[in-house]
Amino acid sequence: MGYQINRAVLDRIRENTDIVEVISNYITLKKSGRNFKALCPFHSEKTPSFTVTPEKGIFHCFGCGAGGDAISFVMKMENAGFPEAAALLAKKAGINLELRSGDDRGNEVRTKILQLNYKAAVFFHEYLLREKEAEPARVYLKKRNISPEMIKKFQLGFAPASFQTEKFLRNEGFNRADLENAGLRFYQRVTFPIFNLSGECVGFGARSINGSDPKYLNSAENPAFSKGNILYGLNLSRQAIREKGEVILVEGYLDLIKPFQNGFENIVASLGTAVTPNQAKLIHHFTNRVVLLFDSDVAGKAAALRNMEALNIGTILMNDLDVEIVLLPEGLDPDSLIDKHGRETMESLLQKRQRLRLPGKPYR
Ligand SMILES: [Zn+2]
Repeated sequence: MGYQINRAVLDRIRENTDIVEVISNYITLKKSGRNFKALCPFHSEKTPSFTVTPEKGIFHCFGCGAGGDAISFVMKMENAGFPEAAALLAKKAGINLELRSGDDRGNEVRTKILQLNYKAAVFFHEYLLREKEAEPARVYLKKRNISPEMIKKFQLGFAPASFQTEKFLRNEGFNRADLENAGLRFYQRVTFPIFNLSGECVGFGARSINGSDPKYLNSAENPAFSKGNILYGLNLSRQAIREKGEVILVEGYLDLIKPFQNGFENIVASLGTAVTPNQAKLIHHFTNRVVLLFDSDVAGKAAALRNMEALNIGTILMNDLDVEIVLLPEGLDPDSLIDKHGRETMESLLQKRQRLRLPGKPYR
């Protein structure tokens, strides 16, 4: 990887890391004497054989043999290298980590993109709140009944004309190559920053408000942003997902934010694509029950089927996702449903969900 971490720093990370806290970010742990138990995230099982021993700072699975400390857990879970996992835990513990980078260009680029995205997200958000040019965006969000609290919580913003964004980012020390790598190719649009589970801004969705096509644009795929590996909103909804024991899966940004605003906080969005096996895996870290919520037009049905198929791939991989479906009344998406018929209607539709029979998989 080209990174080296000083031995003493590693010891400090280990001392300052609570393995129970780290693992609880991903899966639900139950106390069992001096240890904690859980269903193993690394193999499929019905009774918990995954054990965490806080005193020793280690985990071990009696089912599949997986084991190690907090760093190795994060490595497995985030599919990260040793230095990246250590860096993540260092950040959580407030330890300043001087990563000496060698020849790992990809990681340097990624880090730069994340820094740039973070600055851009703040810039867009402030712009939306304060600048005159953003008035149409404010009007748009108001018309869509998005509350000021949600605008803040989801850090919604407005990307102004290209030269303004570029000027701002150049003043922040980013050069042309950085700008190109980050792929912020949207202007005069409402922005939806997309965060990963570590709270890093990996990219943006951007909606046109002046009728320009396409309606939605995302950051270009880059070393920090891969649509198929991320679920929009999961950084904010994971706690509610754990508590409710299920996740509502929608397609778009506002289809997520509107229900969230109305108390349906156990919700994620797939960024308009079919759910990938990686996304299914992400879901599985938090729950095994998925409720698909789509509009009932033909596209909605097709999307539901596509997602079902994709989820089935995930189901085969993980062998344990229950999929249920709610088809919304014609012409309505989760956003407009709540606007027109209120949260009670949404609630009762969720009650009337149907169990999906996945191909090749019997009802349980
Ligand atoms: Zn296991």
